[in-house]
Amino acid sequence: MKCDSCQEEETWLEIIGNQYICHKCMQKNKDMGFLFRTNIEIFKRVMKKLKPKDYQEYTLIAKEQIEKAVPDLKKFGIKLN
Ligand SMILES: [Zn+2]
Repeated sequence: MKCDSCQEEETWLEIIGNQYICHKCMQKNKDMGFLFRTNIEIFKRVMKKLKPKDYQEYTLIAKEQIEKAVPDLKKFGIKLN
């Protein structure tokens, strides 16, 4: 399958809205990429709450929004920069 952002052929893609995004492109949002790598459960919770409608919106998710979506972030030992 092809990534809708970089057009590279990848085996594993994440679905954001109606787009398929490769793991490399997922890292373009620094904080979300960090959660994606380190704690997929929290990542999923943030995605469920913020519901970015496409990749563009995903890349714009700010640290403040993540902290608001998961107020107990610190409990999980997660610190965003
Ligand atoms: Zn990509």
